[in-house]
Amino acid sequence: MKVDFSRNFIGGAWVDPQTDATLPAIDPATGKAFGAIPDSSDADVDLAVRAARRAYDDGAWGRTTATERGRMLTRLGDLILANAAELSAIEAKDTGKPKSVADADIVALARYFEFYGGAADKLHGETIPYLSGYHVGVVHEPHGVTGHILPWNYPAQMFGRTLAPSLAVGNATVLKPAEDASTSALRLAELAAEAGFPEGALNIITGRGATAGAALAAHHGVDFMSFTGSPQVGQIIQKLCADHYITCTLELGGKSPQIVFADADFDAAIPVIVKAIVQNSGQTCSAGSRLLIERSAHDAFVSRLSKAFAKVRVGAPEMDLDCGPIITAKQQGRVQSFLDQARADGIPVLAEGVLADGIAADGFYVRPTLLGPVPRDNVIAREEVFGPVLTVLPFDDEADAVRLANDTDYGLVAAVWTRDGGRQMRMVKKVRAGQVFVNCYGAGAGIELPFGGAGKSGHGREKGFAALHDFSKTKTMVLNHG
Ligand code: NAP
Ligand code: MG
Repeated sequence: MKVDFSRNFIGGAWVDPQTDATLPAIDPATGKAFGAIPDSSDADVDLAVRAARRAYDDGAWGRTTATERGRMLTRLGDLILANAAELSAIEAKDTGKPKSVADADIVALARYFEFYGGAADKLHGETIPYLSGYHVGVVHEPHGVTGHILPWNYPAQMFGRTLAPSLAVGNATVLKPAEDASTSALRLAELAAEAGFPEGALNIITGRGATAGAALAAHHGVDFMSFTGSPQVGQIIQKLCADHYITCTLELGGKSPQIVFADADFDAAIPVIVKAIVQNSGQTCSAGSRLLIERSAHDAFVSRLSKAFAKVRVGAPEMDLDCGPIITAKQQGRVQSFLDQARADGIPVLAEGVLADGIAADGFYVRPTLLGPVPRDNVIAREEVFGPVLTVLPFDDEADAVRLANDTDYGLVAAVWTRDGGRQMRMVKKVRAGQVFVNCYGAGAGIELPFGGAGKSGHGREKGFAALHDFSKTKTMVLNHG
């Protein structure tokens, strides 16, 4: 079987879309198209959901044991590592990521399949003491068919994050990747077939969100949705799910704070804080995009941070610098308009990164920018930019730090930088976020670590064992044995 970016992967085979409509696959480092993917219609989505339904209800997939599923997942992890160079090149071409970032993403993708391969037969049920003469058992069952919709920022990693736990539990899956970065998912479908997943276990349909994505979430053959993307579309997905009484996981945006107290180890904090916002050109839901600094240390810390930030270098994937381009011309324009507005509002630019010589004029580049001090109510202190832009906000004391950290509609990740042990624990307890790091920051890292948000960052948990619970439901058996 030869991978073909112009067809969908449905029921274990490459299937021509129902219409000839296509979408371009674009290289953000040059702005040029290098291929075309199907612009799938409702009819294509319907085919994929039916294939998944058959696989789950009547097919070989529905009869697999947890041990067999674990082996398939583990084999896919091995195949990903064996094909890592090719997968990394596909990912870098489609997203503009620096080569070493794409390489790391493929290793993380393999880890998802390794981790959930090992976990597949460890989701055990329980018994509950009940009335005399009764036996009660609780088992975890798959939902049935799960639908998955992904964004373009970490296409390969997220393929693993969302599909591996769902498949480990035994669901049959239908994935719509982002229209701006679908090629790695199509190649991975082929590797999944090689790993032995039976037909219909994984189905990949490419296309636009408003058409193929909405058709998937609305399809009555889908029993659960996993969505990663913007808060606006997350709301649409939740409403579509409500229409047919199913639940969903929403992994949405963030405005995550790095909270630095005056007693912090600045040498340790600065490189981590810079990386947490420039990594993947700031297009990371868990990017540390707000620097909250104790006022007494503001000048000393910001002068050192500015020097480090000014060294950030931006270039094409093969240059392998700190940052690549932004994914599309549209997103580049969005990031740039935030920066233009900040300047118009009189917010000082503390430092800017450097665009490397030799980058294509038509590539979607922006200069990483450190801004501050930023007024607390300014739009750039509150809205997710989804670009390499860090805003500095001073705070007065611990109570003010908590207030400022939580003064956002989002609640995804936070970091606290302090040597004071009591303060570390108090801050962890009071900050609203799904993950809180102390003297470290793990944007996107840690397959083992439950991850998810509150408020506009979404709900439900992925990663770790928590994902196995979200991708399954309990069934309680009550047996009267007399
Ligand atoms: P997006 O516009 O919400 O798109 C995400 C996915 O939803 C894409 O596949 C998109 O299709 C699809 N979609 C769009 N409209 C839809 C509709 N009406 N019905 C069904 N599906 C629809 O987000 P994005 O611009 O790709 O990604 C940026 C956002 O994602 C940021 O807010 C970021 O923070 C968030 N994000 C969150 C996480 C997390 O784990 N919390 C991770 C990564 C990104 P198209 O491809 O056609 O647009
Ligand atoms: Mg692309």
